[in-house]
Amino acid sequence: MSFLPFYIPRRKQLKIVIIGGGYAGLAALTTLSRYMPDANITIVDPRSQHIKIVHLHETFRRPLQDFLVPFPVLEQRFGCRHICAELITEADNVRQWQNDKFITIHKETLEFDYVLIASGAAAGQADRENNILDLNDFLTTPGPNLLNSHLVTTNQGKPFISVIGGGATGIQFLFEIAHFFRRQKIKCNLRLVDGNDRVLQQFPTDFSHYAETRMTELGIDFYPDTYYREQQNDKIMLETKGTGQKFDLPSVMTLLFLGNKMDNLLSANTFGQVMIDQQPLQNIFTAGDCASYNSFGSNAMTAQSAVRKGKLAARNILRSSGALKLFEPYLHHDLGYVISLGPTDAVGWLALENNVVSGIPALVIKELVETQYDLLLAGIDTYLI
Ligand SMILES: Cc1cc2nc3c(=O)[nH]c(=O)nc-3n(C[C@H](O)[C@H](O)[C@H](O)COP(=O)(O)OP(=O)(O)OC[C@H]3O[C@@H](n4cnc5c(N)ncnc54)[C@H](O)[C@@H]3O)c2cc1C
Repeated sequence: MSFLPFYIPRRKQLKIVIIGGGYAGLAALTTLSRYMPDANITIVDPRSQHIKIVHLHETFRRPLQDFLVPFPVLEQRFGCRHICAELITEADNVRQWQNDKFITIHKETLEFDYVLIASGAAAGQADRENNILDLNDFLTTPGPNLLNSHLVTTNQGKPFISVIGGGATGIQFLFEIAHFFRRQKIKCNLRLVDGNDRVLQQFPTDFSHYAETRMTELGIDFYPDTYYREQQNDKIMLETKGTGQKFDLPSVMTLLFLGNKMDNLLSANTFGQVMIDQQPLQNIFTAGDCASYNSFGSNAMTAQSAVRKGKLAARNILRSSGALKLFEPYLHHDLGYVISLGPTDAVGWLALENNVVSGIPALVIKELVETQYDLLLAGIDTYLI
């Protein structure tokens, strides 16, 4: 058993329920099993496998299977239990759990000492038609299958596909699709529509210049300052920002990458304990994209922050159960962020937001970060901070 500073264990095997087996939930699981190998841990997640979601756009060149870790594998590796269920984590339920110290799932009463809520942030959705896809579709079906099944039904010579949303997710999918079409010699035009005046609005302008130049080289049309309104049978309805002028363009399919919904965020104190009515719930912690910590640390919706919050919450759960009850505050700041632009290019920052890296060095950094997470899932923790 590893040594955890400020943790003097009592002789009790803790019962811990982790709601959500994504990046934060699994970072907590690995941390708990490192410092308390005999803890009784249950993961509640409606999926049958953990999805390494940061790779999802890569299903245009690698099997989706490569990015899935079945929960039975994790049960064996970490001696935990997985229950396939979706729990509602609204304030009333969470308060009730704190009072009861049990959760009822499928008529089973699950007693706990601590709960960690790590259910992520749901991707934004719009009205769904046959020829509209969003991130949720890519969670279950590889990218090529999704596009091919829609493209075979069109009789247009070189149809247009519209991608909505020039944030990190939309851009990563856009470039993978462009390269996929090239490799497969599929005759199809790509268009990006975004309500902002540049792509990757949340990053320094160098990112936008780099990505937009590559888009031009790949022949991708870009409509900045434009709102998506609707995808019809073979055309897309758009609206110009500011003037409100409506227009349509040919489009057989729309892919929506509208960012995360912000409606299920839980507030937490700097130690990761859920705050309701400005009071911390002693036995309920939260981490990852669903958790907004009141602290100096980063609340960015990134895998890096999710992992750090998950690990911190796990350490504080253990300390809370120990004799000292000295907690550690959340101070993590992301050390960089890299956006892939297809299989051989990327743009990102390292150490400081204005320290922009691109091309192969950026790809190498991304690879390193992802390998570190793979090691964590294998039970090897190489995170220094
Ligand atoms: C295409 C793409 C690329 C990305 N690339 C990067 C990147 O390069 N670098 C980076 O840092 N970040 C990246 N991100 C962001 C990163 O994936 C998220 O910040 C990260 O996954 C958040 O981790 P999480 O554990 O909070 O949530 P998730 O990983 O989303 O996991 C949440 C889990 O909770 C489960 N769940 C949801 N609701 C419930 C419920 N009600 N009850 C029980 N379980 C529930 C879900 O099934 C899921 O397993 C990317 C995101 C996408 C979509």
